[in-house]
Amino acid sequence: MLEKNDPFFFDQNSDEQLIAGVEGEHEVPVVPLINTVLFPHMMTPLFVGRERSLAAVEDAMAGGRTIVAVAQRDPDVEQVEAEGLYTIGVEGVIGRVLKMPDGTTSILVQGQRRVRILSYTQEHPSLRARVVPVLVDEERTLAVEAMMRAVLSLFEKVVRLSRTMPDDAYVAAMNVDEPGWLADLIASMLPLDVARRQEILETIDPEERLRRLSIMLSQELEVLELESRIQSQVQQELDRSQREYFLREQLKAIQRELGQEDPLMRDIAVLRERIESAGLPENVQTKAAEELSRLEAMAPVSPEYAMVRTYLDWLLDLPWTQQSEDHTNLREAAQILDRNHYGLKKVKERILEFMAVRQLAGPRLKSPILCFVGPPGVGKTSLGRSIAEALGRRFVRLSLGGVHDEAEIRGHRRTYIGALPGRIIQTMKDAGTINPVFMLDEIDKLGADFRGDPAAALLEVLDPEQNNSFADHYLDLPYDLSKVMFITTANLLDTIPDPLLDRMEVIELPGYTEDEKVKIAQRFLIPRQLEANGLKPGSLTLSEDALRRIIRVYTWEAGVRSLEREIATICRKVARRVAEGRPVPRRILPSMLRRFLGPEQFTYGLAGEHDEVGVATGMVWTTNGGDIMAVEVTVMEGKGSLVLTGQLGEVMQESAQAALSYARANARRLGIEPRRFDKIDIHIHVPEGAVPKDGPSAGVTIASALISALTHRPLRRDVAMTGEITLRGRVLPIGGLKEKILGAHRAGITTVIIPKKNERDLEEIASHVRRRLTFVPVAHMDEVLGVAFRKSPLRDQYGGEPGAPAARPAETALESSIIARDL
Ligand code: ADP
Repeated sequence: MLEKNDPFFFDQNSDEQLIAGVEGEHEVPVVPLINTVLFPHMMTPLFVGRERSLAAVEDAMAGGRTIVAVAQRDPDVEQVEAEGLYTIGVEGVIGRVLKMPDGTTSILVQGQRRVRILSYTQEHPSLRARVVPVLVDEERTLAVEAMMRAVLSLFEKVVRLSRTMPDDAYVAAMNVDEPGWLADLIASMLPLDVARRQEILETIDPEERLRRLSIMLSQELEVLELESRIQSQVQQELDRSQREYFLREQLKAIQRELGQEDPLMRDIAVLRERIESAGLPENVQTKAAEELSRLEAMAPVSPEYAMVRTYLDWLLDLPWTQQSEDHTNLREAAQILDRNHYGLKKVKERILEFMAVRQLAGPRLKSPILCFVGPPGVGKTSLGRSIAEALGRRFVRLSLGGVHDEAEIRGHRRTYIGALPGRIIQTMKDAGTINPVFMLDEIDKLGADFRGDPAAALLEVLDPEQNNSFADHYLDLPYDLSKVMFITTANLLDTIPDPLLDRMEVIELPGYTEDEKVKIAQRFLIPRQLEANGLKPGSLTLSEDALRRIIRVYTWEAGVRSLEREIATICRKVARRVAEGRPVPRRILPSMLRRFLGPEQFTYGLAGEHDEVGVATGMVWTTNGGDIMAVEVTVMEGKGSLVLTGQLGEVMQESAQAALSYARANARRLGIEPRRFDKIDIHIHVPEGAVPKDGPSAGVTIASALISALTHRPLRRDVAMTGEITLRGRVLPIGGLKEKILGAHRAGITTVIIPKKNERDLEEIASHVRRRLTFVPVAHMDEVLGVAFRKSPLRDQYGGEPGAPAARPAETALESSIIARDL
C-alpha cells in the first residue's frame, strides 16, 4: 500500500494534485502517443518506451506531475517532429509510474482538460511545449439533452452486441451527467481508430461532439449487427450439420442393433477394399484414399457426394497398370492380316515391317505413329483391328471428326457441374489395358475455334516424349499413354495439321478396282453377311455378274462400304423369307437384283451417250476417292465477258482465266477469228453446283471444253484428263493421280491424259488396271488437243492453212505480246 507522501501515490479526488493554478498559457513536458488518444476525465495506462518520453515523465515527476499527451499522426514514426503531432492534446496528471521487467515504463495518467499546443520550446532531452487550455461551454439545452439520450441508447445497443465491451461500460456512461464528458467517455471505450478519436477530441462544442459520436455509434452498430447476423447463420449451419451427424450416427447404431448394415457404410467399405486391391500406382492410391475420406465425411444427399463418388469410380475403372502381353510372332501376324483382308500387299508389308522394327527395338523405341489415308470403306479400320489381333492387344477407336474443343480431348476440371474426363481417358477406360491399339479416326476433320485448339492437345497425346504423363483436366493426375499404340486415319492429307503429320508414317489406301471389289465380296463380305444374318455358310451365293451389277449401278465408291451394305440387304431379305417359310433362292442373279435392292441408283458407263461439243471430262480427287467430273462450256453472243458457275474456288477460277487466255492467244491456229472474243460471252459450268470445287488440276479440262465450244468440234467421251495449264499451254503435274485413275477406270473411261511429270506415279497403279487403260502423258496443251478430239482443231498440225507456222507458236514473240496485252 502506498503512503500519501509517496511520490507514486495518486489520489483521484485530491484537488491539490490537479493542475495547480495554471489557468492561462504555460509550459509542460509532452508525451507523444502512438495509436491511442487520451481523453479528459479518463484514467488511462500509457506505456512509455521512447527516450524523450521517459525524460518527459521524469521532468513531470520532478515538477507538478503534469504532462500533455498528444497523439501522433503516423504511428510508424519513431522520432516524431512537431508537425507529426496533432495540435489538440490532453493535459493530465501522472498517477503512478511502474517500471516493467522488460525495461519499459508504464504510467497511469488521469486526463484533465483539453489544451491547444501553441509552440514547442524544447526537443531534447524531453519534448516541451507551451500550451493553453481550451475552454468548453457546457450549456445544457434541450437539444443537448436529446442528443445525450440518443447517444446513450445507441451505446446500449452497441454494448449488448459487442463481444469485447463489458456490460458495465453502459452503466458507467449512464452515470455521467455532463454532455462533453459523456461523449469523451464513450469515444474512449469504442473500438475507434486514432483519427476518429482525435476527431472527437478536437470537437470542442459538446453538442457537435455528441452528434459526431452518434454517427460513429450508428456505423459501429451496423457492423455489429451484420456480424451477428453472419454469426447466427454460421451457427445455424453448424447446428444443422451437427444434428445430421448425430442422427446419422444414431441411425447407424439402430441399424447395428437390428442387425442391418448401413448401405452407405458398405458402399464405402467396398470402395476402400477396391482402392486397396486395385494395385494402383502410389500417387493414384494416395489421391483415391484422400477422396474416400472426404466422401466419408459428407452427407450422401449433397451434390458433392455424387461428384466425389463419380470421380472415385473413374480412378478405379481406369486401367493404370493392367497390360496385355504382346504376341511377337510375325508369321502369325501376316496370317491374320491375310485372313482378314484381300490384296493390299504393299500396305500389309509396310505394317509387318513396322511391327518387326518395334519388336527389335523393344519398348525404348519411340516409333512413329501409323496414319492410314484413304477414302471411306477401304479397310482402314479393319486393318487397325487386325493389327490389334496380331499383337494380342485390345482395340479401341475414337472419332475426332468435328472435335472443336480442347476440353473434348482433355476433359473439364472437376469444379464444373457434370464434368467428365476427356475422350482420350474415356476411351482408355473402355480399353481396360494401358497398351491397346488406339485408332484416332478422321484426324483430318479436327476443328479449332475459340475454345482452344484440340490439335495441340492431340500433339501431346501422340508425342512419345510427353505422353507418359498426359494431363487430363478432370483426372488431375498424370496418365501414362506411352504404352498405347496409336494409329490415325484420314480421308485426305491436306487438312491434317503439319505438326501432327510430322509425327506420322503415312500409308495410303487409294481404293479398289471393280475386280478387287468382286474378290473382296466373294471372299469376305458375303460370308460375313451370311453369318451376321443367321444364314448357313454357302447357303446363298451371288453370281459374279450380279456382284458386278451391284458394284456398277447400286454403288459409286472407292471402298466397299456400300457394297457390303447392299449385300447385307440381300442377306436380310433372304433370311426373312427363310423365317417365313417362303421359297428362297440359292443363287442371286442380276435379274433378281431389282426385287431385292429396288431401282438402280447410278448409271454405269460414260457421262454422255455421244461425243459432245463443249463438254470435257476431267478427273477429281475427293474425300470419297477419285471420280470423274464434266466441265461444260457454252458460247453466246455478247460483249466478251466470262461467267463461271458451279461453286468454283479461287484457284479453279484462275485456271479458267488461264485457259481462256491460252485459247485467245492461239485463236488463229485454232481457226478462231480473234476479234470474235469481243462479241461473245463465255459461260463455264462445272455441274453439281452444291459441292464446292477447287484446285488447279482442271486447267486442261476447262481449256479443252472451251476450245471445243469455240470450234464446234466434239470431244471424245471416252477420254478423261487432268493437269494444270500455264498461259503458254504447258501442262504441269497434279496430285492424287492414283485415286483419279481408279475413279476414271470405275467410270468406264478408256483413255487418260496425264501430265508428263506424273508418269512416274503410274508405277504404283495395279497392272491389271494399267492394262485396261491407255495413258497419254503430255507436256503441252497442243498434245491434249491431239488426243481429246478425234481430229485436232489445230490447223498447223492437221492440214492447217497453207503457210501456217509449223513451230509451236506458244513460244513466239507474237503470242507473248498478245498475252501481255490480255493481262
Ligand atoms: P474404313 O475404315 O477405311 O472406312 P472399314 O475398315 O470400315 O473402312 O471397311 C469397310 C468394310 O469393308 C469392312 O467390313 C472391312 O472389313 C471391309 N474391307 C475393306 N477392305 C477390305 C479388304 N481389302 N479385304 C476384306 N475386307 C475389306
